[in-house]
Amino acid sequence: MPSATPHADLAIVGAGVSGCALAASLRSRGWRGSIELLEIGRGPGGRAATRYSRQDPDLRINHGAPLFNIRAQTPPRLLNALAQRAAISPFRGPIRSLDAERTLGSAIEDGFSDGTLWQGHGAMDQLCAQLLELAMEQGGSLRRRFGTLVRHLRPERLDAALSWTLQDDAGGALVKARWLVLSGTLLAHPRSQQVFGWDDIPLEQAARSLADPELEAAQAQLASIDAQASCNLLVTLPQEAASAWLALPWRLLQCTPTAQERWGLRRISVQPLADGRCAVVAESSPAFAADHLDIYGSRSSAAQLLRAKPGPSAETRVLDALAQALTDLTELPLEGAARQLMRWGAAFPIAPGLDPSHRVCPASAIGFCGDNLSGDGFGRIEGALSSAEALAEELLEKL
Ligand SMILES: Cc1cc2nc3c(=O)[nH]c(=O)nc-3n(C[C@H](O)[C@H](O)[C@H](O)COP(=O)(O)OP(=O)(O)OC[C@H]3O[C@@H](n4cnc5c(N)ncnc54)[C@H](O)[C@@H]3O)c2cc1C
Repeated sequence: MPSATPHADLAIVGAGVSGCALAASLRSRGWRGSIELLEIGRGPGGRAATRYSRQDPDLRINHGAPLFNIRAQTPPRLLNALAQRAAISPFRGPIRSLDAERTLGSAIEDGFSDGTLWQGHGAMDQLCAQLLELAMEQGGSLRRRFGTLVRHLRPERLDAALSWTLQDDAGGALVKARWLVLSGTLLAHPRSQQVFGWDDIPLEQAARSLADPELEAAQAQLASIDAQASCNLLVTLPQEAASAWLALPWRLLQCTPTAQERWGLRRISVQPLADGRCAVVAESSPAFAADHLDIYGSRSSAAQLLRAKPGPSAETRVLDALAQALTDLTELPLEGAARQLMRWGAAFPIAPGLDPSHRVCPASAIGFCGDNLSGDGFGRIEGALSSAEALAEELLEKL
């Protein structure tokens, strides 16, 4: 017998920084309605997630953002709570830059390294995991559903009341909710048609059926947000090889534009592991990523759920190219290293993003948060946090 569809006051799509911060923010403002949080990935984090391995319990690789910076005079309120519970700790670097002549310089202004620097304590995903803990400690029902792709959005109007039914790929109902919040652009953007072969843009279809001009305007703006991609090479180095990497005078290396042109790499982070090994993550330049957009990391759960076609030989070619660039640039060998690829199709949104006046469309009982909201912090974790706090504030009187 099919099981009954769960009901919730609020469904949040996405357990990245903004989705988790929204749950924490609503709870800290005293709202105790039921929340259903749905996420494609295996755990919370989104673009600030950490990769683990069942076979290798000591392994953790921050395969998206390795740190975050807070520039605002008045930081997001949640920052204090996160620091107090040791979910985040100061990022101490050091950060250096490298030019095409391989000259090491001081940190350069790239938008991610000024202000106060933080990292997830122990791993970047602690930021999101602890935001969820914070939300759950304060009471109210919060159900987290990982490994769950929301594929269709079905709004339904009964008399004056509106409800949203979220469906999976097969059209099965995942949840029915009074209010919906989308924290990513996947369901609103034509990229899902181009990349995953979807025959519709779920939010566009919903907006059309609701005939809500405000939602139509929000959807159109979300659909027009371009983004830069990033192909990330993740390597794990055994202890013997790790010592040379750990002795480098930097933990985060920024490549200047000329260096990016020469090696196709944008940034490199060295991430020490507890057992003396280290992980190294080399983020590709936007140009390299644009040339290899259709090559996925086969271990990405999102790629698997989205049925991205596996391409083992193409993946090996990309891994080889990035590994070669990394050894050329650092002049350090990668012998004995385990390699993985993580392709972020929409790593960094390009301004202007969604205008905050579209953050909530009350007639359609829907809201938006994420680093794609225009304003300070756009395209960064700071923006994801502050967009969630602003949305929570606005939703309080409506939920
Ligand atoms: C390689 C890389 C390096 C970065 N470096 C930095 C840095 O140094 N400093 C910094 O501040 N920021 C950095 N960023 C950006 C930062 O990671 C983002 O700004 C931030 O994580 C965005 O959070 P978000 O919640 O807005 O979006 P996301 O993290 O994208 O969260 C959206 C979530 O929704 C889920 N989702 C989307 N659609 C669906 C669906 N249909 N069904 C179910 N789940 C869905 C996604 O899986 C995702 O987890 C970096 C990003 C990348 C990729």
